[in-house]
Amino acid sequence: MPGIYFHIPFCKQACHYCNFHFSTSLRNKEAMLPAMLRELDLRKDYLKEKELDSIYFGGGTPSLLTAAELMLFFDAIGKYFTLRPGAEITLEANPDDLTAENIRALRDTPVNRLSIGIQSFREEDLRFFNRAHNAAQARACLEKALSAGFSNLTIDLIYGAPTTSDKHWAENLDIFFSYGIPHLSSYALTVEARTALAHFINTGKAPAIDEEKTARQYEYLLASMKAHHYIHYEISNFALPGHFAVHNSSYWRGEAYLGIGPSAHSFNGESRQWNVANNAHYIRLLANPTGLPNLSGLPEVFEIEYLSPATRYNEYAMTGLRTIWGVELSRLRQMGAEYESYFLSHIRPFLETGLAEQEGGIIRLTDAGSLMADGIASAVFIVGKDDLSRNP
Ligand code: SF4
Repeated sequence: MPGIYFHIPFCKQACHYCNFHFSTSLRNKEAMLPAMLRELDLRKDYLKEKELDSIYFGGGTPSLLTAAELMLFFDAIGKYFTLRPGAEITLEANPDDLTAENIRALRDTPVNRLSIGIQSFREEDLRFFNRAHNAAQARACLEKALSAGFSNLTIDLIYGAPTTSDKHWAENLDIFFSYGIPHLSSYALTVEARTALAHFINTGKAPAIDEEKTARQYEYLLASMKAHHYIHYEISNFALPGHFAVHNSSYWRGEAYLGIGPSAHSFNGESRQWNVANNAHYIRLLANPTGLPNLSGLPEVFEIEYLSPATRYNEYAMTGLRTIWGVELSRLRQMGAEYESYFLSHIRPFLETGLAEQEGGIIRLTDAGSLMADGIASAVFIVGKDDLSRNP
């Protein structure tokens, strides 16, 4: 069943590694909410189904919204959609926003899952990342959230930073385990173009990423999570049984979702579209869509890509290889026998070298293969063709 994503494009300060869409000026925050609600109204029929499995507030920093502002979204959702009983409603939150008072206010909203951007429990890492919170706040917010009854928590942790030794990484994970949190998203520090981190490395102000250390820390992560009975269900995501992220899993399983807000993406099974990544422009476009029954008359708001058969295959191969669900050969066969045989011939070297494994009709990466998931995915991609059957 489908989900809705709301992109809240504001942050208190810019983390050095981040290339998401956000503004550190809150000037447009007041005008942003009505614009997003207007977009929701215009696009309420984008999803075929009206019962939602998940709602996700991401960003940016959704915890900059007050509980009253969040309720405006829930009121609007209630006009057009129903929620499946037990639907997952996640809010991404930064530790410095999670005061006892804010957490209490959040408990009075429908939010039932917090995704907390801890990134590290160590001061030195947090300063290197330019996070707005400190190490004490990283721990305090977890204690407050748990004691307020938010048991469905997930946190983010970053490994591979120049400030994170192997010992520090092990300590970070130990702190995570000590809280009994059921879900972890853990990412290697990556250097994205046009970020402060890229600039620091290019100008010698920060050392380059040590790839060997990053691989070592990833391997340590896999072993520790396994030892603590977490399931590695997506390359960067681990959960105790029964705690897989519903919203993100639906992305990985190719289900439909509607994305609202600047830079938000949507998918309806046939096409992907992504909204303009400019707050002021987005607000201007949504402020006066006079006479438009839906956003199809407002091409400036989003770009759209209709998925060719080869793009569908590439997307399925990539997400399948990144998840516990793997690539189902029967799904490839439904796309056409030529897609199944293309995949089998290109994945064979990885099966032979133990980087991938086959179980019945499913092929997935092994732990060793997951270290080079992007490279393996690109080796099985169809490049430069829209359709294998028309362009053998
Ligand atoms: S708080 Fe999140 S979205 Fe904002 S700059 Fe930091 S990592 Fe990026």
